[in-house]
Amino acid sequence: MKRQQCIQSLQKEIPLVFELSRPGRIGYDVPTPVPSDSFKSVPSVLRRSTPPRLPELSENLVMRHYTNLSVRNHHIDRDFYPLGSCTMKYNPRVNEHMAAHPGFASLHPLQPAVTVQGALEVMYRLSEALKEITGFDAVTLQPAAGAQGELTALLMFRAFHKKQGNPRRKVIIPDSAHGTNPASIVIAGYEVVELPSGPDGLVNVDALKRILNEDVAALMLTNPNTLGLFESRIEEITSLVHGVGGLVYMDGANLNALLGICRPGDMGFDACHINLHKTFSTPHGGGGPGSGPVAVKRHLEPFLPLPVVTRQNDLLEWDWDRPDSIGRVLTFFGNYGVHVRALTYLLSMGGNGLHDVSEVAILNANYLRVKLREAYEVPFDRPSMHEVVLSGDRQKARGVRTTDIAKRLLDYGVHPPTVYFPLIVHEALMIEPTESESKETLDEFVEIMLQIDRDSVENPDLLKAAPYTTPVRRLDEAAAARALDVRYFKD
Ligand SMILES: *Cc1c(COP(=O)(O)O)cnc(C)c1O
Repeated sequence: MKRQQCIQSLQKEIPLVFELSRPGRIGYDVPTPVPSDSFKSVPSVLRRSTPPRLPELSENLVMRHYTNLSVRNHHIDRDFYPLGSCTMKYNPRVNEHMAAHPGFASLHPLQPAVTVQGALEVMYRLSEALKEITGFDAVTLQPAAGAQGELTALLMFRAFHKKQGNPRRKVIIPDSAHGTNPASIVIAGYEVVELPSGPDGLVNVDALKRILNEDVAALMLTNPNTLGLFESRIEEITSLVHGVGGLVYMDGANLNALLGICRPGDMGFDACHINLHKTFSTPHGGGGPGSGPVAVKRHLEPFLPLPVVTRQNDLLEWDWDRPDSIGRVLTFFGNYGVHVRALTYLLSMGGNGLHDVSEVAILNANYLRVKLREAYEVPFDRPSMHEVVLSGDRQKARGVRTTDIAKRLLDYGVHPPTVYFPLIVHEALMIEPTESESKETLDEFVEIMLQIDRDSVENPDLLKAAPYTTPVRRLDEAAAARALDVRYFKD
């Protein structure tokens, strides 16, 4: 095994930046002292009477402090991160370069539109690209993440139905749905109706027919679904729901499997969200804010959040005059820096490049499925899309749970896959390698997973006490979240 199993420096306690502080130590010199009378125009109530309690450090101490902190957690720049459903692909540095451009980063959100045409052009072009990729007619970039995109769309669905005379009461989701789906349904004021999956892991169309009626406002589906399987009867499903006057929502978190191959708008969906931070390579998972644009068909366009960017002759403008809009869902215009990153990624990949992204993502997932099935149960063992769900049932029979497998992966410097989701698979391990990993990385992961399987036979106790090399060992996860032990600096 090539990987180092012991990373000593990780186990060293890192002091707080305040504890490193020494009076008078400085990181840089201000060329000329700021004259004290230069703040005269600031009213005295707004001025400090005592200096702020900032730590005093040299530049290299600051640099080392944050660099050391950054490697204590796992992130995509450190190593493989096959977290299913979350699309932890590599975030190209050119995205960061563009987002940091002062022409974007130094703007004020209240600047008149005529002074920020370039910034609006980014939003306009990004919206146009998302329309093209998804096959919809209009887009809002405002929601802060996928979950908020779901809520935004459901509020639009409610407004649409209300306008027709009846908001309706129920929204259907399959039992494989992501947890944000039922949460969004309840927050939007609807009742959740659960649809059991068929034995093939797909929507059970007969069961759907039985629960469809005029009280159903919508069906929410993930396609490919959370088992990584494509809903092959999707057009039949969307027309059944339309048949009772309901709308169909696609949870677009798995769009990384579809780019340039097929489009939700062509499958009969009325709306879908797009997780820019998953599919379009902007940092997430402790690394930055998200963005969850929603794309809709023409009949839902009047309900989009305010404001919408529109082109009037040669000028881009904010359109606020939209009487049927559900209103704002976020401050200002959404997470703008993410829009810049996503458009940069789209333009640098180009249409053919995006098509390759999905093909390679699908190939990588199937490569792992075939390589791992000798040791791990694959509950739906047929070609999958961009992710594959394994079950740790065989290992569990030897006393090793999926949690133990996940914890042991940490010792090899690999982020564990998503575990215990989807809920319909026992001891689930949901692996999404993404297109940005090399064959060597995948082979190394396979070797590690096979070694863990051998250990589950020969040395199960080794797995049950893992991890050994991380800054902290096994935590009581419930207590770790509820009884935070946060050290802070006191005088
Ligand atoms: C990630 C995800 C969501 C929620 O998106 P966020 O951007 O994390 O809010 C919804 N559904 C599925 C299937 C997802 O993977």
